[in-house]
Amino acid sequence: MNSIWDVIVVGAGVGGLSAAIRLAAAGLRVLVLEQNDLPGGKLTQRFHNGYRWDCGPSVITMRGVLEDLFAAAGRRMEDYLSLQPVVPYTRYFYPDGTRLDISGDLSHLSPQLERLAKRDLEGYLKFLAYAARLYRVVAPTFIYGEPPRLGNLFKQPLGDIRYLDGWRTMSYAIRGFGLSPYLHQLLCRFATYVGSDPFRAPATLNVIAHVELNEGVWYPVGGIYRIMEALLRLAQELGVQIECGRAVRQLEIVDGVIRGVVCADGTVERTRSVVANVDVNVVHDAWLSGHDARARDRARQLQSYEPSCSGFIMLLGVRGYHPQLLHHNIFFSSDYQREFREIFREGVPPTEPTIYVAITSRSTPQDAPSDAENWFVLVNAPSLGGTWNWEVEAERYANRILERLAMYGLDVRSRIAVRYIVTPVEIARTTGAWRGALYGAASNSPWAAFRRPHNRVAEVRGLYLAGGSVHPGGGVPLAILSGRLASRMLIEDGPA
Ligand SMILES: Cc1cc2nc3c(=O)[nH]c(=O)nc-3n(C[C@H](O)[C@H](O)[C@H](O)COP(=O)(O)OP(=O)(O)OC[C@H]3O[C@@H](n4cnc5c(N)ncnc54)[C@H](O)[C@@H]3O)c2cc1C
Repeated sequence: MNSIWDVIVVGAGVGGLSAAIRLAAAGLRVLVLEQNDLPGGKLTQRFHNGYRWDCGPSVITMRGVLEDLFAAAGRRMEDYLSLQPVVPYTRYFYPDGTRLDISGDLSHLSPQLERLAKRDLEGYLKFLAYAARLYRVVAPTFIYGEPPRLGNLFKQPLGDIRYLDGWRTMSYAIRGFGLSPYLHQLLCRFATYVGSDPFRAPATLNVIAHVELNEGVWYPVGGIYRIMEALLRLAQELGVQIECGRAVRQLEIVDGVIRGVVCADGTVERTRSVVANVDVNVVHDAWLSGHDARARDRARQLQSYEPSCSGFIMLLGVRGYHPQLLHHNIFFSSDYQREFREIFREGVPPTEPTIYVAITSRSTPQDAPSDAENWFVLVNAPSLGGTWNWEVEAERYANRILERLAMYGLDVRSRIAVRYIVTPVEIARTTGAWRGALYGAASNSPWAAFRRPHNRVAEVRGLYLAGGSVHPGGGVPLAILSGRLASRMLIEDGPA
């Protein structure tokens, strides 16, 4: 092919499509190259014998970010995608039998919290106000704005800097609200939304609780993959060309300027700019580090950052109906601190894991046969690179999870009609995620937000990054925002 594209987007994850849509809406000719046969990356689904599972993200927050993407192309999200509120957001199960349904509906929540401990309701409401204030202070700089610089922080009103709460850990700050251990564990859990450890991550990350607890949880009618389908439809309407089954092997860079991409089959596509929706470590290690010593140093520096956690997944077709379960369910471990120590310090999956079970057939009955349920079971797991060998251990670990669920009174072992296991190895292989990390680098240090890679690659003119491993971070809404930033920078810079 001889024509020169204005932009090639490498990777059809949500971040890549967000960039492609905005660039096409701005009048640019955009080609998306995706290595897999299907677009979506981590956002994917699987079918088997009447079952359908969302295999990646399952909790959608920050609805406004999706609406904004459609608006950027002059469309209304409602014409492409129907997002329904999920209420209660989640049912939490504790080892002592305590059960808690969390939602924004105080009439349901208050009596539950009052039963937990005398001061829990008051403490929880104070925490929500604190998280909302964090959002007000943090969001413009760390979520919606260009990659933060330390210097820029001091441009904020002095009083606001104090509220950023970067020096305490999440867990420590939550303790300050005098909550019962039940609520402490529940609020700490939001660190896992960016694959991090609440006992080390800065309290600034308590902002994540705000976007769920104050703003709500959403589910697309028909499944999470409907988001991808809606973005694909929009991209195609705008003229974006999407080619699946085409892996990019190398970038063509001449005198520090991007000129094209070389595909795995040897074909070359010429372009004036590239948005890489590929894990930033892959970009620097495989594509840039060969250029000079500076590029090699940068690749090494990125590799030295602690990765976020990965995940161990079971997709189950379970016969019967389990009335004690909702759409989103969490079964907590009895020792949360140990769990994170094992994942991040010891590099082993938790001995006694907290287990997440999502059953979308609660919201979409067609997702399972009429006498059965589709369970997506997820446990946080260490990123790859240690001594743990999933090839040997996967089966045993799956059984351990099922045993733990049995201890919670949910012994489904004899009712499993279908079972798939997805380990961090498969996640790394199918999505290109560095060491299988779900959310790029972990946010376990106050400096993490400042070290998160920029959306513009300084060393190569015309190369931009979008996706969960670069600013502003991982998760569907943030990856979409990274596409917004990358496309904005590309348009500002003009053709390389
Ligand atoms: C199990 C799991 C649970 C999660 N839960 C949630 C959740 O509940 N809520 C939430 O908001 N987020 C969740 N996430 C995170 C969320 O899915 C991701 O942050 C987001 O989807 C990442 O999007 P991305 O733009 O970074 O692209 P990715 O999804 O990483 O996609 C990148 C794409 O690039 C392609 N690619 C890579 N290399 C090449 C190449 N050389 N050539 C061509 N194509 C290439 C890949 O095949 C892939 O399609 C979860 C993720 C996983 C895996």
